[in-house]
Amino acid sequence: MVPSLRYLVGARGRAHGALFGGFPGACGPASGRPRPLCGGGRSASTSSFDIVIVGGGIVGLASARALILRHPSLSIGVLEKEKDLAIHQTGHNSGVVHSGIYYKPESLKAKLCVQGAALLYEYCQQKGISYKQCGKLIVAVEQEEIPRLKALYERGLQNGVQGLRLIQQEDIKKKEPYCRGLMAIDCPHTGIVDYRQVALSFAQDFQEAGGSVLTNFEVKDIEMAKEGPSGSIDAE
Ligand SMILES: Cc1cc2nc3c(=O)[nH]c(=O)nc-3n(C[C@H](O)[C@H](O)[C@H](O)COP(=O)(O)OP(=O)(O)OC[C@H]3O[C@@H](n4cnc5c(N)ncnc54)[C@H](O)[C@@H]3O)c2cc1C
Repeated sequence: MVPSLRYLVGARGRAHGALFGGFPGACGPASGRPRPLCGGGRSASTSSFDIVIVGGGIVGLASARALILRHPSLSIGVLEKEKDLAIHQTGHNSGVVHSGIYYKPESLKAKLCVQGAALLYEYCQQKGISYKQCGKLIVAVEQEEIPRLKALYERGLQNGVQGLRLIQQEDIKKKEPYCRGLMAIDCPHTGIVDYRQVALSFAQDFQEAGGSVLTNFEVKDIEMAKEGPSGSIDAE
């Protein structure tokens, strides 16, 4: 049983009290510009959702998508304070699809990074999102760096990173003519992608599955509900 959550929200400049009677202005015509990502789901005009996710970056949108695909009967909303999604960290990172080589073996980070990279490539292929699996060289330029490089290689193998190879000077040159090094880890699964595009595709999947995205909607306060509709459990 999922407890129903009420929430105190306010689009910028709106008083907290405005909420339980609907979201005036939250999903209506934007001042000047249309907001195609606003609404679209069954709950856009209601004042309560089973689950609300605050923040329309890649983490919020991936979570919202995963939740609605697993629990299609729940009403789920994503609230984003900006007029567009994914314009903060998600839209301004380096765009690297990390292979998972650096993380401590057996750690959640290591497992999720390796698994996540494979899922991301698969998703991009399905959706026709451009990416480049260009690979990466991690290079030892001094003799003393070689033991650390070898240890990193072993760590990558332990983490299940596919395709790792230790390569020597001449192979470094073949791959990257302007790179000088004594030894390198060739990491072919590293890549690059536009994470904003991925996030917007997650948003589209979420909305197509019935979820609601409300932009220009800053969460200013949160209140635990004493009790939700019949059948839900007390949230306090
Ligand atoms: C310089 C840099 C480079 C990076 N390079 C990489 C890389 O190459 N590869 C990689 O995998 N990762 C990289 N990362 C990490 C990656 O960018 C982040 O882990 C990821 O984007 C975080 O996503 P997010 O959804 O948590 O945050 P964000 O994308 O910032 O999303 C948070 C959202 O919440 C909204 N929000 C905040 N408060 C409220 C509120 N009160 N009400 C409503 N909405 C709210 C914001 O407007 C924002 O849209 C990099 C990070 C940085 C800083």
